[in-house]
Amino acid sequence: MAVGDARPTRAVLIREVSGPLTVEEIQLRAPVHGEVRVRIEAASLCHSDLSLATGVMRQPVPAVLGHEAAGVVVETGPAVTELSVGDPVLLLWNPPCGDCWFCAHGEPHLCAHAADRAAQPYAFDSDGADIYPGLSTAAFAEQTVLPASACYRLPADMPLELAALLGCAVTTGVGAVAATAGVRAGESVVVVGLGGVGLAAVQGARIAGAAPIIAVDRLPDKFDLARSLGASEVTLAGPDARQRVRDLTNGRGADHVFECVGLASTIKDSWKMTRRGGTVTIVGIGGKAEVVEFSALELFYFARRILPCMNGSLHASRDLPEYFDHIRAGRLELASLVSREVGLDGVSAGFADMADGRVARVLVRPNN
Ligand SMILES: [Zn+2]
Ligand SMILES: [Zn+2]
Repeated sequence: MAVGDARPTRAVLIREVSGPLTVEEIQLRAPVHGEVRVRIEAASLCHSDLSLATGVMRQPVPAVLGHEAAGVVVETGPAVTELSVGDPVLLLWNPPCGDCWFCAHGEPHLCAHAADRAAQPYAFDSDGADIYPGLSTAAFAEQTVLPASACYRLPADMPLELAALLGCAVTTGVGAVAATAGVRAGESVVVVGLGGVGLAAVQGARIAGAAPIIAVDRLPDKFDLARSLGASEVTLAGPDARQRVRDLTNGRGADHVFECVGLASTIKDSWKMTRRGGTVTIVGIGGKAEVVEFSALELFYFARRILPCMNGSLHASRDLPEYFDHIRAGRLELASLVSREVGLDGVSAGFADMADGRVARVLVRPNN
């Protein structure tokens, strides 16, 4: 394309898997048929960005990371009818195509084409080399270009810096409880791993009326926060946690355990904390090397259900209005999930903090 058609923007780039993150000026393509350009107001760091950066999840590179974000439409391409310049939007990293078998059968979170966009160049660098949008959205940038179908228009009363969290962590954590597992009032819930997703799952359990709600982490740093968001009990991970869960559930184990880490060891621990016939929901994303072993006998005997959770089984048009109501009513607390704010230059350090497990969410404000 002619350089004159390009839209320059600063962005956080990963040029090779496991390589360093650099902040560079890149050139966005002008929006084409069905696309929009969005100015990013807030984008938070998610473990999946880390997984893309380290190659645990596949992503063509060089790529711009960032997928949990909200912004404002600043340009619309041809044939965009549902969005206008000035609209506040939530970016959807897993946008359903609306046409495939999964979309037609009420499982848009499993859309066969949701990942197509991430393999299509959307920008180029100063040498003219193609750049790909990480998880389709490429939100660690001042601006991005993406399909209008990957943008959900936000109500005017939703603060964008908090709405950004609905892009992944909150909809995954709350959705795992409400939509994937369908927790009912009075059921016992354990949440393993208190990052942004786990803390959202704690809130989802409280909203569902679960009791007790037991929060488990290998570090105590977020126990106070977990309590304030709805956990009735907190405990350090390990054998003591299994005993604590049994003590609190008349020796049975919990009705529901939500694994929000993605390691073989924590998945197996979560299985052991679940009662016979209970449900283990696997929310954390682990790598290929994380192999979980079950004996045929234990699968039979304990009769537990294992539910993998993709994006909180999110059906955006069905579920997001309910999230907005939860936020307005104060049932869903988002501000305390933000541990700190950084600019694009702070993304690299933010990832280091996230890998340490000491922060819930680091919020990136690219244009501040
Ligand atoms: Zn589809
Ligand atoms: Zn995410």
